[in-house]
Amino acid sequence: MSPSPVPQPRAATVRGALEAELSSAPETGLTAKELSARVGISEKDVAGHLEHLEKSLRAGGAALEVIPSECLACGFVFKDRKRLTRPGSCPECRSTRIEPPAFRIR
Ligand SMILES: [Zn+2]
Repeated sequence: MSPSPVPQPRAATVRGALEAELSSAPETGLTAKELSARVGISEKDVAGHLEHLEKSLRAGGAALEVIPSECLACGFVFKDRKRLTRPGSCPECRSTRIEPPAFRIR
């Protein structure tokens, strides 16, 4: 982590980059961690940008698809989860070994 004053990319540019990356992985999707590395934003900022991207995609007739998180311990799938971030723990078995959600554009 360097404190150098690198200017933050404009939000619209970030969303364009996210859209391009998501379009490049239509099969498996990309997790927030992968997107943060590819686009150069912090992982915790990915969900906020994706929420805005989702709105603009919908206006254009596309959609952001969420491949749900899954518990690695018991296989529970977080199908009904609305938030785009990784769940903290499994409601079934309390495990914190959770596969993060992945995102793609359809
Ligand atoms: Zn579980």
